[in-house]
Amino acid sequence: MKTFSVEEKENIEKIINSSKLCYVGMVDDKGSPYVLPMTFGYNEGVVYLHSAQEGKAIRILCKNPKVCIAFCTDPELIWQHPDVACSYRMRAGSALCEGEVVFEEDFVEKEKILHIIMRHYSNKTFTFSVPAVNNVKIWKVEIKSMSAKEFGVMRPGSIT
Ligand SMILES: Cc1cc2nc3c(=O)[nH]c(=O)nc-3n(C[C@H](O)[C@H](O)[C@H](O)COP(=O)(O)OP(=O)(O)OC[C@H]3O[C@@H](n4cnc5c(N)ncnc54)[C@H](O)[C@@H]3O)c2cc1C
Repeated sequence: MKTFSVEEKENIEKIINSSKLCYVGMVDDKGSPYVLPMTFGYNEGVVYLHSAQEGKAIRILCKNPKVCIAFCTDPELIWQHPDVACSYRMRAGSALCEGEVVFEEDFVEKEKILHIIMRHYSNKTFTFSVPAVNNVKIWKVEIKSMSAKEFGVMRPGSIT
């Protein structure tokens, strides 16, 4: 079972779009890392997130907006021999994206972004009340660099 680098943007996007959650890594002003699981939406090279207006993450991002976001598809436990521990693997796709958080303040844009986030989880069309839009903090991360790997794959041309 092998690990492959995924080079094509559309295949990296498939991994992102197949992931239910992301893990947003940031670094505070003392150099300490802080990572949060979050729901997200993705569209054309931009990751969209939402949160409360205040909290530790917001305080960190106001000082240092750089983030690294990890995505992972639902992993499947696989093995070549059930009695051999080191033959066990997780089969999954994983993507990493780097960029900077910009907070969106425009009401109409915020509403559009909430639709993008909900589209990741449901085919339903939702409406958002004015307070719901006003009370949410919207994060936009334009992806500056991305990489991805597929783990636990049986294919020729593997890298490990
Ligand atoms: C599956 C899942 C999906 C989520 N999706 C979202 C989302 O889309 N948007 C969103 O805003 N939040 C989401 N959360 C919650 C998110 O992970 C944070 O807890 C939340 O955003 C608050 O972060 P904060 O930095 O403002 O925390 P604060 O309330 O300021 O945190 C205070 C302290 O609590 C601890 N803490 C905070 N969050 C966590 C955590 N997740 N786990 C353990 N300790 C923690 C930290 O030590 C921190 O110092 C999700 C959580 C889960 C499990």
